[in-house]
Amino acid sequence: MKYKIALAGNPNSGKTTTFNQLVGAREKIGNWSGTTVERKEGFLKKNDTELVIVDLPGIYSLNAYSIDEQITRDFLINEKPTLSVVIIDASNLERNLYLLSQLLEMGQNAILVLNMMDIVKQKGLEIDLEELSQILGIPVIPTIASKGEGIDSLKDIIFDHLDAHPNILHIDYGDIDESIHAIDSIIKEEKIDINISSKALAIKILENDQTFSDFLKDSPRLEDIKVIQKKVQDKLKKDTDSYIIERRYAYLHGLVKECTKRQITIEERFTLSDKIDRIVTNRYIGIPIFLLFMYLLFTLVFKLGTPLVESIDAFFNFLAVKSSYLILKIGSPAWVASLVSDGIISGVGSIIVFLPYILLLFMGISCMEDSGYLARGAFIMDRMMHALKLHGKSFIPMLLGFGCTIPGIMAARTLDSEKDRIITILVLPLISCSARLPVYTLFAAALFPKAQGLVVFSLYLLGILLAIIMARVFKSILFKGEVAPLVMELPPYRLPNFKNVLFHMWIRALFFLKKAGTLIFAAVIFIWILASLPVGVEYASEESVIGKIGSIAAPLLKPAGFGNWKSAVALMSGIIAKENVVSTLGTLYGVEEEGLTSTLRSHFTPLAGYAFLVMILVYIPCVATIATIKNELNWKWAGISVLYTLILGWILSVLFYQIGSLFL
Ligand code: GDP
Ligand code: MG
Repeated sequence: MKYKIALAGNPNSGKTTTFNQLVGAREKIGNWSGTTVERKEGFLKKNDTELVIVDLPGIYSLNAYSIDEQITRDFLINEKPTLSVVIIDASNLERNLYLLSQLLEMGQNAILVLNMMDIVKQKGLEIDLEELSQILGIPVIPTIASKGEGIDSLKDIIFDHLDAHPNILHIDYGDIDESIHAIDSIIKEEKIDINISSKALAIKILENDQTFSDFLKDSPRLEDIKVIQKKVQDKLKKDTDSYIIERRYAYLHGLVKECTKRQITIEERFTLSDKIDRIVTNRYIGIPIFLLFMYLLFTLVFKLGTPLVESIDAFFNFLAVKSSYLILKIGSPAWVASLVSDGIISGVGSIIVFLPYILLLFMGISCMEDSGYLARGAFIMDRMMHALKLHGKSFIPMLLGFGCTIPGIMAARTLDSEKDRIITILVLPLISCSARLPVYTLFAAALFPKAQGLVVFSLYLLGILLAIIMARVFKSILFKGEVAPLVMELPPYRLPNFKNVLFHMWIRALFFLKKAGTLIFAAVIFIWILASLPVGVEYASEESVIGKIGSIAAPLLKPAGFGNWKSAVALMSGIIAKENVVSTLGTLYGVEEEGLTSTLRSHFTPLAGYAFLVMILVYIPCVATIATIKNELNWKWAGISVLYTLILGWILSVLFYQIGSLFL
């Protein structure tokens, strides 16, 4: 048996390359009859089956505009190949599938070769071969003809499909579907003998294709057809052939969308990253952009978080008042009611209230981290730190320090130089950890309700600046020497991973709540006891034990504007854990109907409040941090960090308050 196989496809889709791969040297070159167009035939044999493979001229469609199209059409209709192997450039599917769609519409037995799969991969395209094959109803074979890849399976499939009869492809022609159907019926009745489907012929006739129309030129129904043609022309108000082309492309567009996915390639990712990087890591505008992002983040955190925080706050106030009332009602002593409502509920509650802020802030930070932008932040900061003769690597522990100082201190192990490590650890407590956020936000809400984001942002910024300045100071006092250069890895940008971000938030929230339930709970009870002793004293009055302790320290704080004993006690409790400042103020001021926020408003001026926050930012690290510094270094450095932060905090808050008082 001898079969005729046609290789068809657009120019440059790899037909000749595939042809050569399939038949090797067994080829015969001539011309298509009556033309100068080269005709190549090759031979392939398997068992008793022999194939003649014909390399057709490259064409885009089966219209009859060019000699190449004419040759291909004549071949398909007159020489009736057993199988058409349509070879297309798969990296340009939509345009390349046009010819195939026409062949399938004609009812030709065809298989589809997706050539140039290497380019497809390079372009980041993903083609669902299975789906494409299912929709078209024919086999789809991926190849890289220039490398001979896929040719063997192409051979097998050619031999397997010599007698296949794929379904005629049905494209929806919308407005003219009915007319196509009408002409189709006429053709069927007339029993026209032609090697293409009656539907394809009907379409060709509607397109006014001369060659195909000739098949019906002697038909008695010619007039009927002309009427239909005229009707269609009037209805469309444009050329029928351009309408058909449009519909066909619409179909192919949908088909390609259905079967392909576009992934951004690594190269593109990097070039896109490069473009973004040129802006965000720019020497001059990089830092302002970074700061702008941080500022927007804080503003957003407060815009979104405040309503939540307020409702949680209202809930705890309500709980405190109600529980106190109930406890007294069942006949328990007054001190129990006080412990529960003044102590536990207002103390622990005043911390839990801040959960929305913590969650939102860490959502933002993990988005920045996941997207790759935070690494750019480190990168631009690195450059700035180099200018300050600091090691850029120390910015990474500092970044961690925004969450909690302790992992930051641990991360300083990555610094090669012991001196750099010590300096980094010493300045890390100046970076605002998440425990300080509740204190900042409480005061910002109470005293600067219109500029909460800005106030908190400024404290974070102040912390960073102080850390950099102090590092420089330590470097020049304690150690001298050059900084080793550092290459920082800049990963390509990508969309943040939702799961990562949620996980990050969850870990933060858990850590925060755990601390509120244990360390802060214990501290609250401890403070409550000190505030209730000696027996019979008015709760949290100046005569209580805690009042006396606070009163001793208060005069020292007077120059900073917050020289009252309650602030002094709050600061002391903050050494246990920074959030304690809030719970202690909650415990000491109790929670009256109006809540802690408005109570603070009557006890702090905005200036004093901000000075207090500067103190909170700088003074003595929490005990866990001190213990970690001792573990990582030794008691000497732990002691130094306690001392210098206390002195620096005092100086700065006094300076701030005194200078501020001159202007306000
Ligand atoms: P034809 O016009 O359809 O006969 O296409 P050719 O076989 O002449 O191929 C056109 C160009 O594409 C040639 O330079 C081939 O080397 C190249 N080519 C063919 N197949 C592949 C392929 O799978 N991958 C790549 N990258 N190039 C190919
Ligand atoms: Mg060629």
